Amino acid sequence: MKSTVCRFCKGSNLKQFLDLGSHPPSDAFLNRDQLKGPEPRYPLDVDLCVDCGGVQLGYVVPPDLLYCKNYPYESSTTRTGRAHFFEMAKTLSTRFKLKPESLAIDLGSNVGVLLSGFRAQGVRVLGVDPARIMAEVANTSGIETINDFFTGRLAREITKKYGRASAITATNVFAHIDNLDDIMSGIGDLLTDTGVFVIEAPHFLELVNHVEYDTIYHEHLSYISLKPLVSFFKKFDLELFDVERIKIHGGSLRIYTGRRGCYPVSPNVEAVLALERQGEIHSPERLGRFAAEVQEQRRLLVELLRDLKGQGKRIVGVSAPAKGNTLLNYCGITNAQLDYITEKAQMKVGYFTPGTHIPIYGDDKLLQDQPDYALILAWNFSEEIMANLREFKERGGKFIIPIPKPRVI
Ligand SMILES: [Zn+2]
Repeated sequence: MKSTVCRFCKGSNLKQFLDLGSHPPSDAFLNRDQLKGPEPRYPLDVDLCVDCGGVQLGYVVPPDLLYCKNYPYESSTTRTGRAHFFEMAKTLSTRFKLKPESLAIDLGSNVGVLLSGFRAQGVRVLGVDPARIMAEVANTSGIETINDFFTGRLAREITKKYGRASAITATNVFAHIDNLDDIMSGIGDLLTDTGVFVIEAPHFLELVNHVEYDTIYHEHLSYISLKPLVSFFKKFDLELFDVERIKIHGGSLRIYTGRRGCYPVSPNVEAVLALERQGEIHSPERLGRFAAEVQEQRRLLVELLRDLKGQGKRIVGVSAPAKGNTLLNYCGITNAQLDYITEKAQMKVGYFTPGTHIPIYGDDKLLQDQPDYALILAWNFSEEIMANLREFKERGGKFIIPIPKPRVI
């Protein structure tokens, strides 16, 4: 459905600055039987709200077409990710003095990695995740998880059954939510008087500065910057009181909100707002230049792969994150360029990439086969991936990192 109203301020002053074409949902990995079937594609374009600076997809795919299937993502698959969530749970538990009776709720809790971090700190935990498989895995491992979308209605049910929450977290899910007003009213009901709502999301400033266009896909409805959120939270009588810049996912923000006046507003907030002004990320002219850089990056990568193929080199992909599918589909990279993709997460092995139909094998195939080049699609974890696959390089293999500019290592 085409969006006509800004998700943050409800204004209608939206201006499209990027058009990536039509893409299948980036998590719609296919099994062999599905390869012959029809594959729905939806427009992938991005708008700026000229009024509040909110950046959002121009077209929203209904969530039941995106989620609740065999959603093949497991957040515990990288060590970096796991360590990050444990650090986050520890930091929040200490800073906000969470006690054994405190409740921490994670929205989009996946298999419960962040919550197991909270539990290790001695805090009561509850997960909410719409993906059935994830909720099952979490519940089996003892992290109580409600298999549903988080809504205002569910928030009220949770309050009745479990009490109010001292910490509510949403890591890489806030950007996935269409009806933000409804979930914010739910969070307002659910938080204790001194409770904190903490979001982590890739920072749109980094996306623009490092041409990370592949983090744009249908599940990511919004691209988070601080400016529109400051005024957005005020509508719910909440206050954005602190923000930290963190390294994960190519550069993210950890954003803290609480009830208005509950916590002093940190100077970090103004510092990040100033960075956003300097980066001009709410300016249509700057975003127009960004769109040109995206096209140039595609040209360079396509040319590099074509040259290597011309020299008779064998190229494969390494890791199959959702973002990889934006890159593959936008650049038109198929089985003709990449023989296959290897992936550590067993959940995806045996599947094919949506739209581009590249087969996915286990990571061990890379060493058995020893192709010439390996394109790292989860470039935000490239250091860890290259360390895991050190032997590939020692035997003469080369890695290609596509973002911010294609380079061979
Ligand atoms: Zn707006």
